[in-house]
Amino acid sequence: MQRCARCGADVRVEHGRACRCNVCDFILFFNVGAATAAIVEDESARLLFTIRAKEPAAGYLDLPGGFIEPDETAEEAIAREIKEELNVSVENLRFFCTVPNRYLFCGVIYHTLDVIFLGFLAREADLQPADDVTGFEWLKKEEIDLDRVGLDAARLALRKYLDTA
Ligand SMILES: [Zn+2]
Repeated sequence: MQRCARCGADVRVEHGRACRCNVCDFILFFNVGAATAAIVEDESARLLFTIRAKEPAAGYLDLPGGFIEPDETAEEAIAREIKEELNVSVENLRFFCTVPNRYLFCGVIYHTLDVIFLGFLAREADLQPADDVTGFEWLKKEEIDLDRVGLDAARLALRKYLDTA
């Protein structure tokens, strides 16, 4: 951010959290965005991973999820994202934890807070990858290689889950 969004004058960064205009005092805050993801298990305690279609981390494993839209609850967002990405409804979604995240997109780092849910899906569910997901994998806990997981927040959430499960 180099110029004031209101008057076009130079801005200065304050406390690393906002840009204040040198002329009209307009302030643009770098607010934390909200995202959501789900750790989904089947009846054999395998975990569901999506394969990312797009950057960042294209080709890496991820948890189903995405950004929460304006006026949407986290519960609505995770159900919508799973439906968009895999064309299924996950049962019994319940809150697990939140994870701070940094998301590099188009050369800009966005700070987000990811709301993580737990849920259940039968192994025979008919998953149809779409949107920003190119495939999926069911993995036993001992098969999970966190180096194959592309985003920090998903790794943190999984580590927390695997430590407590
Ligand atoms: Zn200004």
